[in-house]
Amino acid sequence: MAQEMWSPSSWQSKPNPYPITYEDQALAHEVLDKISRLPALVTEAEVSILKSALREVALGKAIIWQGGDCAELFEYCNEETVLGRIKMLSQMGQQFTQQTNIPSLLIGRIAGQYGKPRNSLTEILNGVEVPKFYGDNINDSNPLKREPNPLRLTEAYFYSSATLNRIRAALSAQPPPSIQGTGFGQDRVQDEDGLSPSSLWCQFVQSPPGISSTPPIFTSHEALYLQYEQAMTRPWGPEVNGTMHSRRGEKVASSSKPGRWYNSSAHFVWIGDKTRQLDGAHVEYFRALENPIGVKLGPSVKSNELIRLLDILDPQKETGKVTLITRLGSDRVYDILGNLIDSVQRSGHCVVWQCDPMHGNTRTSESGIRTRDMLRIFNEIRTSLEIHRQHGSWLGGIHLEMTPDDVVECTGGIEGWVDADLGPAYKTKCDPRLNESQSMEIVHAVAKLFRK
Ligand code: PEP
Ligand code: MN
Repeated sequence: MAQEMWSPSSWQSKPNPYPITYEDQALAHEVLDKISRLPALVTEAEVSILKSALREVALGKAIIWQGGDCAELFEYCNEETVLGRIKMLSQMGQQFTQQTNIPSLLIGRIAGQYGKPRNSLTEILNGVEVPKFYGDNINDSNPLKREPNPLRLTEAYFYSSATLNRIRAALSAQPPPSIQGTGFGQDRVQDEDGLSPSSLWCQFVQSPPGISSTPPIFTSHEALYLQYEQAMTRPWGPEVNGTMHSRRGEKVASSSKPGRWYNSSAHFVWIGDKTRQLDGAHVEYFRALENPIGVKLGPSVKSNELIRLLDILDPQKETGKVTLITRLGSDRVYDILGNLIDSVQRSGHCVVWQCDPMHGNTRTSESGIRTRDMLRIFNEIRTSLEIHRQHGSWLGGIHLEMTPDDVVECTGGIEGWVDADLGPAYKTKCDPRLNESQSMEIVHAVAKLFRK
C-alpha cells in the first residue's frame, strides 16, 4: 500500500486523542518556532549508538532497565533529584549485571518525561469543569491555573536540557576505575573488578569512530504532545551553512538525505497505549523517525493490529528498531502474550520485547488511592519471562515507574507496606512509583529468574 508523504507536521491531519488548544495561538506559534531553532538535545551519533545497543538486546545479548517517574516535574530539575535518579538506575543495572553477567542497557524516563496521559480531558472540581493536569509542559497542577500555557513548552526544553547536562556531566567525569571511590560513580555503582556501568556498557557496544564518550544512560519519554515533538524533529545528517529545516518540514538541510529525520529531544521515544491507533496522529508522527522507538501494548491489543502497526513503524524490518512494551496485567499476561510473540515471530520483524509490569496492575485501595502491589508486579515479570522462554523469545527489558525519593506509593515488598501506609509518603502527581528498596528487590528477584 502506497504511503502518503510524511513530514514532521503530517500528523496534524490525523485524529489526535490528546489535542492541546492554546488560547493565545500567536504566542503558541512563536514559542514552537523558537523551539524549532534551539539546538538538538541529543545527537544523531548518540541515537545511533543506542540503536546498535538495541540491536544487541533484540538478539538476546543484553537487558534494558528503563525507569523513572510516571510524570517528571519541573521541580525535579535540581542537583539532588537528578543525581539520585541516575545513581539509582546505574545501581540497578550494575546489580543485575553483576548477578547475571548479562550487560544492562540503561534508559531513564527523564529529561523530558513531562507529559501526562489522561483517561479524560476534563474533570469537575467544586462543581466546575476544568482541564485536567496534563503535565508540567502543558499546564499547572493547581486547579485554578489549568489553562494550557505555551510558554511551558520552552520551559520544558530548558529543564530537559539542564537535566541532561547534569546527567552527561556526572557520567563523563567519572574517575578511572582505579581511583574511583569519591564523588559520583563510587562503590555503589562499581563492582569488585572496578567496572562502572559505562565500562560494562562499552563491553558490548563499540562506539563508532570519532565518538569518544558514550552516555551510559540514555533518555526517553512518551512523545505525547506532538507540537513540541514536531518542533524538536530535525533532519538526520549534518546541517550545512546553518541551513535549517522549517518546523513545518518544507526545507531540508541540503546535506541530509530527504526524508530522514530524528527526534532530537530524547534518544528513545515511545507511543503510549492510549495513542497507538493505526490511523492516528502519533503513529503517523513516529513512522519516519530514525530513533529507536517504543510502543506500549495494553490488553486490548490484537495480533493482526500489532503486525499492521509494525509494518508501518518498521517497514525495513530493522533489528531492534521497535521495542514492544507489554503492560498486560499479571492476571491477563498468560492469555495474551504468547499469541503476540507468535505473530511477531511469523511477521519477520525482529523487535525488542520489554515488560512494563506497572500499568496493567494499578488498583484502587479501599480509601480510593491508586496503588500497585509488588506481588503482582513481580508476577507479571515472571510470567512474561516464562512465556518468552516457551516461545524461544528473549525478554529484553523491564520498564518501571520508580523513584529514589522516600515514598510509599506501592504496597508489598520486604518493608511490608499495606494500604493503610499510603499516607503522607504518597507523593506522586501521577501513577504510583516503586521506592528504592522495592526497585532493588525487583532487580534481585529478576536477576534470580535470569540465572535459572
Ligand atoms: C506511562 O508510561 O506512564 C503510561 C501512561 O503508560 P501506558 O501508555 O502504557 O498506559
Ligand atoms: Mn504511568
